[in-house]
Amino acid sequence: MDFSFTDEQNMLRDSVAKMMDKVATPEYIRRLEKEQAYPDEVYQAWVDMGLLSMPFPEEYQGLGGNAIDMVIIAEELGKRSFDFFQAYGGSVFCGLNVVKFGTPEQRAHWIPKLLSGEIKMSISMSEPDAGSDIGAMRTTAKRDGEHWVINGQKLWATGAGATNNVINLYVKTDTSVHYRKGMSLLLVDKDTPGIKMRKLELLGRRCVGTYEIFFDNVRVPFDRLVGGENRGWDVVMNGLQIERLTATAGYCGAAQAVVDLALQYAKDRKQFGRPIGTFQAIGHMLADMATEVEAARTLMLRAAWMVSAGRDALKEISMAKLYSSETFAKVANQGMQVMGGYGYNMEFDMQRLFRDSRVTTVAAGSSQMQRNLIANLMGLKVQ
Ligand SMILES: Cc1cc2nc3c(=O)[nH]c(=O)nc-3n(C[C@H](O)[C@H](O)[C@H](O)COP(=O)(O)OP(=O)(O)OC[C@H]3O[C@@H](n4cnc5c(N)ncnc54)[C@H](O)[C@@H]3O)c2cc1C
Repeated sequence: MDFSFTDEQNMLRDSVAKMMDKVATPEYIRRLEKEQAYPDEVYQAWVDMGLLSMPFPEEYQGLGGNAIDMVIIAEELGKRSFDFFQAYGGSVFCGLNVVKFGTPEQRAHWIPKLLSGEIKMSISMSEPDAGSDIGAMRTTAKRDGEHWVINGQKLWATGAGATNNVINLYVKTDTSVHYRKGMSLLLVDKDTPGIKMRKLELLGRRCVGTYEIFFDNVRVPFDRLVGGENRGWDVVMNGLQIERLTATAGYCGAAQAVVDLALQYAKDRKQFGRPIGTFQAIGHMLADMATEVEAARTLMLRAAWMVSAGRDALKEISMAKLYSSETFAKVANQGMQVMGGYGYNMEFDMQRLFRDSRVTTVAAGSSQMQRNLIANLMGLKVQ
C-alpha cells in the first residue's frame, strides 16, 4: 500500500502552504476575526493561484484535479483557518454542480465568472425548521411566466453575504409530492430585490459569515433553474461525497494546527523550572492528540484514494467525517488545557481553533446523522 504523494502533489501542497503563509498570516486572521470581515485578500490569492479551478474539467479552463488534489488543498487551507476554507468549498462545490447539471449555456455563463473570481457561490438548504431533516424545507418557488417567484426563509447560509455572491438556493417547486421529487435548485444573486439578509452572531467562523436570508416575492429569470424542475435532490446528492470528503480534510488540517500550536507551547512554556511538555501528563496528552489526528487523517486519505479511483466511498467518507470532526473538537479542547490560562485569552489563537471546532460535529451532517448513515450502510435500520 503506497501512501506517498506524487511530486506534483507535493509541489501543490508546498505552493498552497507558501501562499497561505504569505497572505493568511496569524496577524491577518486575528484582525479579520476581530472585525468579522470577509477574507477578500485570501480569496483573491486562491483565484490568482488557480485553486478555484483545480477540480473543474479542462474544457472550462479548469485544472482537472482529482480528490487527492482537493484534500491536499483543503488540509492546507484548514491549517490556517477552517472558516476561510468554507469560502473555498462553497464556491467550488456549487460550481461543480453547475458543470454537472447545468445546460451548456448555464456553464458558459457561470463557470468563467466563478473561476475568475467575478462571482462567488454559497449553498442554502437549511431553514429554521429544516436542519438535519432537509425535506422539511418550506421555501417555495412558483413559476410566473418567464420568472420564478421565491418566498420563504433560509438559515445558516455560510458566505451568503460575500460580495457578488450567487446563492445556490434549494426550494420546493412541488409541495404535493415527497421532497426528493419536489425540490429544485435556483441560482439567485444575493442582491436581488426582495432579499433581506442578517449576519448571525456565532461562537466561531466569524469572518466568512453565516446568514439568515428572507425571500419576499423574489423574482429570478426562469433560466436560473439548474438541473431541471424538481430534480434538486439529485443535484445536491451528486456532489455530497467529494464535498464532505474535502471538508473532512479541512478538519484534519485544522486539528493538526491545534497539535502544532499546543506542542510548541508545551516546549516553550516553563513551570517548576522545566518545559510543561516534560510533565508526563502533558506529554501523553500531546501524544494522544497527535495519534488521533493521524488516525483521522488516515481515514480521510483512504476515502480520498477510493474516490480518486472512482470507487463509491459513502461509508468511508461518513466514517472519516465523523471521526475527524469529533477529533478536531476533542483536540481543540485538549489544546486549551495545554495552554492553561493563555488558551482562554483572545490574544492567543487556540481559542479560535476551539470555537471553530465546536460546530464541525453539527454542520455538514451532524455526528448523529453520520452514525445513522454508517449504521444503515451496515444493514441496520436506524432512524
Ligand atoms: C456555522 C454553520 C454554518 C452552516 N452553513 C450552512 C450552509 O452554508 N448551508 C446550509 O444549507 N446549511 C448550513 N448549516 C446548517 C447545518 O447543516 C445544520 O445546522 C445541520 O444540518 C443541523 O441542523 P440543525 O442545526 O437544525 O439541528 P437539528 O437537525 O435540529 O439537530 C439537533 C440535534 O438533534 C440531532 N438529530 C437530528 N435528527 C436526528 C436523527 N434523525 N437521529 C439522531 N439525531 C438527530 C442532531 O444530530 C443534533 O445533535 C450551517 C450550520 C452552522 C451551525
